[in-house]
Amino acid sequence: MLGYSEIPIKSKMNFFKKFQCEVCQEKFSRHEELMNHQEITHFKDSPYDCKVCNENFHSMSEMRDHLRKKHSYKIDR
Ligand SMILES: [Zn+2]
Ligand SMILES: [Zn+2]
Repeated sequence: MLGYSEIPIKSKMNFFKKFQCEVCQEKFSRHEELMNHQEITHFKDSPYDCKVCNENFHSMSEMRDHLRKKHSYKIDR
């Protein structure tokens, strides 16, 4: 039974108490760093952004509409 080589499963091993950016999956050791990163990298001018695909919107209604159509989000309010 030679010829087999086990592939080590190393992915998904870093689920510790790190703060992860839900937009780009980057990890930070402190919450302030994460907030700072998100403000600089993702929020920019548009106050509303889709957390799933990182698309920006200028109004809440636009984003909600996008979430419903693209991601099948259920928004009750
Ligand atoms: Zn990010
Ligand atoms: Zn989206």
